[in-house]
Amino acid sequence: MSRGFRDADETQAMSDQAVADQIERILDRGRDDISVASAEGRCVDCGDEIGQERLMALPSAVRCVRCQAGWEKGPGR
Ligand SMILES: [Zn+2]
Repeated sequence: MSRGFRDADETQAMSDQAVADQIERILDRGRDDISVASAEGRCVDCGDEIGQERLMALPSAVRCVRCQAGWEKGPGR
């Protein structure tokens, strides 16, 4: 009779572990993105430093302000 309760507990524990693993993986991915961006710190177009202030405001920035402005205008320059 008590066996049914124990099985339920084990199932609950397993799904808790699965959720914890998933959260861990998502957090790891986020950390990777941030460390890659800050390790680069250089414009992918001209190779100049993007600048600390710009990276602080936009950690995912991959272009300096000048290249970003040109890039946003599009290829029809
Ligand atoms: Zn640039």
